[in-house]
This record gives sequence, structure tokens and C-alpha cells, in this order.
Amino acid sequence: MKILSIHTTIFRSPLKTPFKTALRTVENLEDIIVIIECDDGNIGFGEGAPTAVITGETLGTMEAAISYLGSIIAGLSIINDFEEILYRLHSGLLHNTTAKSAIEIALYDLKAKSYKQPLYKLLGGTQTSFETDITISLNDIDKMIADSLKAISLGYRILKIKLGNNPSKDIDRIMAIYDAVSKDTILRLDANQGWSKEDSVLVMQTIEAKGILAQCIEQPVKADEIAGLKYIKERIQTPLLADEAVFNLAQATSILESNSADYINIKLAKCGGISEAIKIANKASEFGVSCMMGCMLEGPIGIIAALHVASAASDVITMIDLDAVALLSSPPNNCSVTFDESHIMLYNESGLGVKYKN
Ligand SMILES: [Mg+2]
Repeated sequence: MKILSIHTTIFRSPLKTPFKTALRTVENLEDIIVIIECDDGNIGFGEGAPTAVITGETLGTMEAAISYLGSIIAGLSIINDFEEILYRLHSGLLHNTTAKSAIEIALYDLKAKSYKQPLYKLLGGTQTSFETDITISLNDIDKMIADSLKAISLGYRILKIKLGNNPSKDIDRIMAIYDAVSKDTILRLDANQGWSKEDSVLVMQTIEAKGILAQCIEQPVKADEIAGLKYIKERIQTPLLADEAVFNLAQATSILESNSADYINIKLAKCGGISEAIKIANKASEFGVSCMMGCMLEGPIGIIAALHVASAASDVITMIDLDAVALLSSPPNNCSVTFDESHIMLYNESGLGVKYKN
């Protein structure tokens, strides 16, 4: 199973409604599909969504990076040279984590196919059924309440509330949504780096004083403000989740050793792929820290890859934030995975279980 060629194509799909956070507004999903063909006829599929404001990548940089990385792993064997392929992938080019992740997903798809096993089984996982939250985009309060109630009517029990453009309005948003939804609805709050550390404490202490305890508050301050995370963590009751502050194992280790967050959000696009994601999960497990499996605005292939990793590390990945497929205006028909709003099922198909048709 030697790598013959690596090429890319662009996957575009409109979203049901614009995806809005403190960092960006997106109306159409646009990402890169990686297709690796091997000399025995096997084909592996990968995917990555460029997120310029988080990883610094665009469609163009991803295409260039994948073309370059493809040239330095071509000819190697998935079966005999897998570690060498990963070494070349990660040492041959700095950064470009989404591009590397998209290639790694295709490599792991092929590796699992070579063993004729689903990827989650190859990675040691058994879990096949997952419950995801759904994103409530950052909008005016009335719109966010309407979106929350609609999500609940579709069966979602966990809402991921996007915040971060104005602390006092954000307090109003949280309180209004909390009042509007039933008390068994789980709220995850995500400020996407939009608050100062002082604002973060003010917002969280204010809602906590009203009796609102969210499951987590995610990345309230800038990605590089690690001391700010610790400052906030020491002053609030709500568990603090680090997202943009943790790309890779080194950053995860730093956060864990300094006790600067309660949870870590692992995303393949941030860490460069499946191999690093598993290392982060293992490190978090050593510290007894639970993780969220998150995503960028990826299509089915990227989301399915994240599910296989979540299954493999299900002892430590206890929160699933893989709603990107549910945000697409048309459902996927190229995979053997069931996406039924909040409920996602993996099946016993070899590899990722995806068949991409361009
Ligand atoms: Mg986040």
C-alpha cells in the first residue's frame, strides 16, 4: 500500500444559517478534501476547514501546503513506513496544522483499511454512539432565544452559546436563554477570546450569583493569555475550558502543569491531526482532566475522523462538540455514519467509513 498520489478538491456547502462567533461570521462551508491514492487501488480521504482567524490558514495556503507535503511522503508505504510518514509530515513544514490534519485523516483512513477495521477499533475504541451539542450563534437576544428553542425542539439537550462581543450584553444573553429553556438543558458558554480576564470574572460571577452554573466557559480570553486563564479559574465556580490556547501537546502540557484550565478542547485542525490529538488526550488523562472533542466548520469527513478519535479516547473525551454537519443545509450522503441531529452513530465499516464522490 504505497502512496501514489495526493490531490485536493474543494468542498462547498451552504449553511442553514450564518455561523457567528466573536471572531467571525461564515455563511458557506468551504474546505479542502484530501484524496490519497495508493498503488493497490486503495483510496484514503481526509478533510480540513481553513480557519484563518484561528490557525492562520486559507484555502490557498492549505492547497500549497498539502501539495508540498504530498511531495515528501509520496512513494512511502502506509503499512511499513507509517511512522516515517508522520515524522516527515510534521517535521517537514512548520504550522499549517489544518493541512497536516487533513493529510493525516486520509493516512489513518488507509491504515485502518489495510487492517480491514474501522479506525476507532484500530485506535482501541469501542464507543459508537455520541451526543453532540449544537452551536447557538452570536446574535441579538431574541434570535438566540429562538435558535435555542428550535434546537431543543429538534432534540438537542446541550447548547453551545456563542458570546464574547460585549460583557454586559453577554450577561443578558445568558440570563435570557437560561430563563427561556428548561432546567435540564445543559449550557456550554464560548466567548471565543472576546473578554478581558476582569470581564470574564465579572460575567461569570454575575451569572453564578443568579444560580446559573453552565457546564463550562470556553476560552474567554486571548489564546496567549495563559496567566489570564488561571486568574479566571481561581475566581469562578464554572469549569474553564481552554480552546484556542491549546493547539498541541506542548501547550496542553503547559496548561495542565500550571493548572490553568479545568478542561481542554481538542480539535484535529489545531493540533495537526489524529496522532497529536491522541497524545493530548493521553496527557490530559494523566492529569485527570477531561476533554471536549471539537471541530472547525468541517464537512462529514473531518467530523467523522474526530468521532473515531473521540471513541478511541472515550475515557477522557467526555464532551462532544461536533455539530458542523448538522449546520449544513443539505445532509451528507457519502458516508456510512448516521447524523441524526444531536445523535451520531459510527458503524463497523473499515477505515473512516466515508465514500467521497466529487
Ligand atoms: Mg471554542
